[in-house]
Amino acid sequence: MAAVVTAFLADLRTLVAAESKTGDLIAVDRCARVLATIGSRLLGPAARLTMTPTAAGPVVQWRFGRAPWRLALVGHYDTAHPAGTLSSFPYEELPGLVRGPGTHDMKAGVLTILYGCAALLRDDPAALDGVVIHVCPDEEEGSVASMPALGGLIDDGLTTALVYEGADEHDGLVTSRRGGLWVDVAFTGSDAHGSRPQDGANALQALAEFGAAIPSLADPARGTTVVLTRAIAGTTINTAPGRATLTIDCRTETAEEQQRVLDGLTAIYSRVPGVTHDIVVLHRFPPMAAAMSAPVYHTVSQAARRARLAVPAPRVGAGISDASHLSALGVHVLDGLGPRGGGDHSSAEWVDLASIATRIALTAAIVGPVGELARTLVVRQGAGVLR
Ligand SMILES: [Zn+2]
Repeated sequence: MAAVVTAFLADLRTLVAAESKTGDLIAVDRCARVLATIGSRLLGPAARLTMTPTAAGPVVQWRFGRAPWRLALVGHYDTAHPAGTLSSFPYEELPGLVRGPGTHDMKAGVLTILYGCAALLRDDPAALDGVVIHVCPDEEEGSVASMPALGGLIDDGLTTALVYEGADEHDGLVTSRRGGLWVDVAFTGSDAHGSRPQDGANALQALAEFGAAIPSLADPARGTTVVLTRAIAGTTINTAPGRATLTIDCRTETAEEQQRVLDGLTAIYSRVPGVTHDIVVLHRFPPMAAAMSAPVYHTVSQAARRARLAVPAPRVGAGISDASHLSALGVHVLDGLGPRGGGDHSSAEWVDLASIATRIALTAAIVGPVGELARTLVVRQGAGVLR
């Protein structure tokens, strides 16, 4: 195994040992300090470290050269695994792969940024001028607290970003992501004895009728799914319930489709007399549009070919990431640059060992050309703005 991969794995073991479930502030803070130490050791004096406190823990950034910082390399150090997960799901190096909580999502991706940049700096200390590394503490819960720091990069001149969520088992690069909308519909009627339904207003009946109308809002041809994911209703077998709540998960390729579904939900009315309902938007994430990744993917493909590296195929990402937010802010963005693997958020999480060296090499090959591209691009105002 190459010395660089051996060193990478030693740092990965240390970073995984610093468990960092989103919202576990003591653990997250400890992990931030471990990350800062590893990063500053690898990047040396060329990198200026800042740790900006937020309600979810510190945003860790390194800046190179002087403003404007046009290109950001983006990751997160929080994970979906609670403290103590390591006792039942330990970090392990096995033939050809590494297992452990938060390895693929995405501590290996964060280290790929640091090792790729360290390789570039060895050859040319000025290679990263105008680049900022941004690693946040709360991506797994929507980057709510770190969003001002991410958006603030645009004020510093950001036009382009490379996001290091791990590549899936197909080893592609993520050129688009569907947006996500989660909605609760809360029904309010009044309880009644099961033998005297006429004395109440049955919220569960209203939920069932409302739920039956939901599938018609989906549009598979446009990539729009609308799915019932949770129903809460009822207390005993012989009470007609006065309260019920239905949760809906909607994914769309465009902001317009997301709005169409929300408008459609608002237009459904309850037919049960005496039951009213409220629609509560729980989370709303914009799509990462393919148009926002196209110039970056093109430049990355050319740079990979010049470096005699395989050109990863474009793929539609599963779920939401900081790339979704950046794209909506008008930043040109490519995702999935971390090493190949899978099993995110489960005790099957893994990273492909061979892919670590490949993605470090890819990073070293592309950051310069993408940095050049970033100078020619401008933020697209209103690229994915939701009404
Ligand atoms: Zn992630």
